[in-house]
Amino acid sequence: MKKNANPRSIAFIAGLLAATISTAIIAIGSADIFVALVNFVVVLCVCFLVFNYLLQAFIYNKIKLIYKSIYRFKTHDENELRALDKYNNDPIETVSNEVLDWMLKNRKEVDQLKEQENYRHEFLGNVSHELKTPIQSIQGYIHTLLDGALEDKKVNHLFLTKASNSTERLIELVDELTSISRLEGDKPPLDIELFDVVKLADEVIEMLENQAKEKKIAVRFKKKNTKVLLVEGDKAKVRQVLINLVVNAIKYGKNEGQVLIGFYDMDKSILTEISDNGEGIAEEHLPRLFERFYRTDKGRSRDQGGSGLGLAIVKHIIEAHKQTINVRSTIGIGSTFGFTLKKG
Ligand code: ADP
Repeated sequence: MKKNANPRSIAFIAGLLAATISTAIIAIGSADIFVALVNFVVVLCVCFLVFNYLLQAFIYNKIKLIYKSIYRFKTHDENELRALDKYNNDPIETVSNEVLDWMLKNRKEVDQLKEQENYRHEFLGNVSHELKTPIQSIQGYIHTLLDGALEDKKVNHLFLTKASNSTERLIELVDELTSISRLEGDKPPLDIELFDVVKLADEVIEMLENQAKEKKIAVRFKKKNTKVLLVEGDKAKVRQVLINLVVNAIKYGKNEGQVLIGFYDMDKSILTEISDNGEGIAEEHLPRLFERFYRTDKGRSRDQGGSGLGLAIVKHIIEAHKQTINVRSTIGIGSTFGFTLKKG
């Protein structure tokens, strides 16, 4: 049968069939051609009208109704709904296309939901794992103190200080988790302003001076007398990026080493690079470095108070600015992290 057969053509074919059969029967019984011809025309017309009415009333109109319901579900525009009556000549084909579309969309949604479920599962596992370490350490010190160490003047202060450090670590972790969940979830709008990135980096160097001193690391600008460089961005968030990158450069830099901050004019943007001369990162880790909780050396990072979230936060912030971040590193020589910001 024709692909786009409609009630009229189906009724016509059925009428033709009925008329031919009945005419053939009459023609066999009597030789009157006129009677046979009249019979043919009458049967054809009656059958056509009856079939056409039945098909329209009981099949086509009902399918059209189903299609309209599907469409009403998708659109709230009454004009579009009325236009459907005019243009929709083949509701059966349209319904089957709609159902196919709906199935494909549903499958995509199910896949997305599964992906989100895996993500939640993995995230929850990582979070509880990260929280467990400082909590267990606090619990350990408190139990030791309760078991008698509280009276021992030689260790009680030390254990309390260690418990307090773990509490700070716990707070830091929760703060980082809050930042990452905000950056990945609600996506708060950026508070864009014009500022001098060199001055901001200088503030960050000053802020991290003590941390750098502990490892006798010198943090400074690559070029002396770096002049003002205006950029557009969310200053508080860019400060966070600089802090995370400089803290990492100090954490993973070598004792008595140096951390250099360089600025490069890239026509439409300013590239800021933070380099250290630490242990470096093996090539195989580089593609995954910005993933949540990814660490090249889990034990070492935790010893240094690392959560594995710092670089993920940096990446989210830079991507929210529609800018780029990159890393290059050589084992034994050091690492360089660079990010761009729109020139102001
Ligand atoms: P962490 O809190 O563990 O430092 P980050 O997200 O800041 O988490 O960094 C992820 C991992 O990348 C770190 O655990 C470390 O292995 C590696 N890394 C980051 N910065 C450097 C660097 N400057 N030199 C060497 N390794 C680094």
